[in-house]
Amino acid sequence: MQLSHRITHLTGGGSDGWDVFYRSRQMIADGIDVVELTIGEHDIRTDPVILEAMDQAASGGHTGYAMVPGIKTLRETVAKRIQDRTGVPTSYENILITPGGQSALFSSHLAACNQGDRALYLDPFYATYPGTIRGIGAVPVPIKTRAEDAFQPRAEDIAAEAEGAASLLINSPNNPTGTVYSYETLQGIAGVCQDFDLWLISDEVYDTQVWEGDHISPRALPGMAERTLVVGSMSKSHAMTGSRVGWICGPKDAIDHLITLATHTTYGVAGFIQDAAEFALHQGPDLEDKIAEPFRRRRELAQGIIAAQNTVTLIPAQGAMYLMLDIRATGMSGEAFANALLDAHKIAVMPGESFGEAAAGHIRVAMTIDNVAFAGALETLCDFAKKCANGQGPV
Ligand code: PLP
Repeated sequence: MQLSHRITHLTGGGSDGWDVFYRSRQMIADGIDVVELTIGEHDIRTDPVILEAMDQAASGGHTGYAMVPGIKTLRETVAKRIQDRTGVPTSYENILITPGGQSALFSSHLAACNQGDRALYLDPFYATYPGTIRGIGAVPVPIKTRAEDAFQPRAEDIAAEAEGAASLLINSPNNPTGTVYSYETLQGIAGVCQDFDLWLISDEVYDTQVWEGDHISPRALPGMAERTLVVGSMSKSHAMTGSRVGWICGPKDAIDHLITLATHTTYGVAGFIQDAAEFALHQGPDLEDKIAEPFRRRRELAQGIIAAQNTVTLIPAQGAMYLMLDIRATGMSGEAFANALLDAHKIAVMPGESFGEAAAGHIRVAMTIDNVAFAGALETLCDFAKKCANGQGPV
């Protein structure tokens, strides 16, 4: 039987730079001790107090169908959190609870784009972005940002592709680059969205992981609340990756249609997960800070290690749980370096190329193992890069 073109071509084909990741997973399955610095999964599990709230909700009977838009009190809690953080008036009617940020990305694009529309996104990008856009029947259009700009997008680069496009997807704090978009960057982006009548889809799933500067939600910029769909998630802020709970925040009429979409797709999120999410949000910033703290510390360790050598350069790590390292001094591609590092030292990192062309010659390191092991792995990585640059390692 023939499958649809849309599903068979979701990933676009060709090498996607994820070979290193699959190779490291195979090595681990074969019993080899690999230092895993590839994906964005915390090295802690969901906090026991959240699990207790989840358990109580499930044992208390909240296991039937839950309200499709989300439980009203959770929607109100998310709305209040957003209003408190941004100053933009926000009610529960602006919120749809989704099964994680990924589902919110998919639904937001479906709301913003018609079949065949061009949907803009910034390169380097989170791995699923182009597939998500293809999945809803739009055409993904990457716009390169530059290492020399620390990957802050330029408004003129976006404007050059914006004619006739339906949406622009941005992500700050950024995975994979660790860049936090400045007010000026966001102003430029807002201007392009208004000039070209684009929906802005703002992926803010790392909003609690900011090490330098402030997280600014572009929905708070003048004239943006009516054209912005904010994607949020409990995955990174509360170490709840497996619970699959997130949200879309947007204009009421968009949310009303997105609720209809949810009725015909996900049928909502499990009630006991929503109760746990509401409990977690009520713990306030203390719990969020506790979860973000290990990454803040490792980022400081990394800054010290990288400052002590001169082969590898750190893209300013302003937020999120990753470091983007420029390894072009080795003369190798990110992919060749990551493969060689895995072979030589059993350290697995992601090649920049797996996040788009703009990150070629870079690697992404997830700060997701304990401090001592993390610092050791980074020192080994830097020594290895130096050997490669001096022609003493693979080139
Ligand atoms: N957006 C970005 C930038 C991410 O890095 C991730 C996950 O790593 C997601 C969205 C999806 O997160 P989730 O579906 O777990 O909320």
